[in-house]
Amino acid sequence: MTTIKLHNTKTRQKEVFEPLDPDNVRMYVCGPTVYDRAHLGNARPVIVFDVLFRLLRHVYGPEHVTYVRNFTDVDDKINARAIENVGEGGDVNAEIARITEMTTQWFLDDMGALGALEPTQMPRATQYIGQMVAMIEKLIADGHAYEAEGHVLFSVESYATYGALSGRSVDDMIAGSRVEVAPYKRNPMDFVLWKPSSDDLPGWDSPWGRGRPGWHIECSAMSYELLGESFDIHGGGNDLMFPHHENEIAQSCCAHPEGGFAQVWMHNEMLQVEGKKMSKSLGNFFTVHDLLEQGYPGEVIRFVFLSTHYRKPMDWTEAKAREAEKTLRKWYAQAAQGVGTGEPYKPVINLLADDLNSAGAIAECHQLSLADDVSMLRHTLQFLGLMGDDVPAWASAPKADLSEFEVQLFEARKTAMKTKDFSEVDRLKSAFVEAGVEVRMSKERVELVPGPGFDPAKLEGVV
Ligand code: AMP
Ligand code: ZN
Repeated sequence: MTTIKLHNTKTRQKEVFEPLDPDNVRMYVCGPTVYDRAHLGNARPVIVFDVLFRLLRHVYGPEHVTYVRNFTDVDDKINARAIENVGEGGDVNAEIARITEMTTQWFLDDMGALGALEPTQMPRATQYIGQMVAMIEKLIADGHAYEAEGHVLFSVESYATYGALSGRSVDDMIAGSRVEVAPYKRNPMDFVLWKPSSDDLPGWDSPWGRGRPGWHIECSAMSYELLGESFDIHGGGNDLMFPHHENEIAQSCCAHPEGGFAQVWMHNEMLQVEGKKMSKSLGNFFTVHDLLEQGYPGEVIRFVFLSTHYRKPMDWTEAKAREAEKTLRKWYAQAAQGVGTGEPYKPVINLLADDLNSAGAIAECHQLSLADDVSMLRHTLQFLGLMGDDVPAWASAPKADLSEFEVQLFEARKTAMKTKDFSEVDRLKSAFVEAGVEVRMSKERVELVPGPGFDPAKLEGVV
């Protein structure tokens, strides 16, 4: 059996992965809060842990792996969005139901387009309120949580190893984060397990009055219900390490001290835009849907993600996408001649088994392509989620021939040099750019390079 090694955030080391039960390998990954389109950064953990899911299924057998990824469908950001949409006096609860349902489907569609398999289970937080209340009651009974002014707070001082995952002391954490100071907190680091809800917001009856759960308790309750008090892998972006994952550990380990909660913690690095994390709050984001709409095939986006190791920051660039598309077109042309589905290339499995070296796996595919091993290339692309049963339609369509337009633009430029009137050149240039074509122009020649988002329809009647 293939030995898998994974980098464990908890020990800061690459370790040999030994599942608690090889007949049921269990993984939990924090899923999205559903109130908007997923941005490209949100796709990173989805793709990273999809690769791991595929690898685990390959090694242990598909029926021996349980992958849980939740939907957070109760959250202040959702409430705020609903209130924004319907205004004062509107039906906020109906709007919340509409938003969460719609954006959940969007998420599934977008991630499906990126070749991500559906996890075994996708629990919605609102369906596990009873389990959350039970866990909070247990934490109170055992002295790890207290009620204050309709809130229930987790007492950080009650858990001696709080902060161990990120390796920070409580003082560091207070200094480095914006902890919400509230008069009812015994310690500023204490965090909310339950809070009161006004009548117009989602709320559930509880021993502490009508209210709703805090974010962290959701993952603890759902993972306990679906995977048990200890399981193998817990994943998410490294922006969640503190406070979210520290808080999950504190809650789960205090509520179920006999279990070890997650054995291996894995965190993907961030997708960046000019050196900064892509995020909704910074406003420097674009959505997966935007890219798909612009014509970037999901396989191209996935390929770009796989080309960088998950523990390294990565940038999305147009140049990377163009290169990925070129490579995939070449590979698909070869893979189309391969037969059926079958076992992926063993060296690719070995690279992925080495802490998900997906960049190395892509390099191995280049080798298969050079060797013209068309069937092995086909099976390996299928395994990596870069190809389904067949070559995707976009790749089998012939690449646009723009040579006629290159001549047209070259002639227009020559004329403009004489007349000093560049308006026609500018008009043509912007029409090409608008249609998703890169224009390279020099004295000697004009080159038109269609990008992945090229839409020939946009050129009709314009040039
Ligand atoms: P959120 O909806 O913000 O809780 O994020 C959902 C998931 O996306 C979490 O696992 C985050 O860690 C991850 N995530 C958010 N922004 C980025 C980013 N820029 N790069 C990679 N992962 C991200
Ligand atoms: Zn979580």
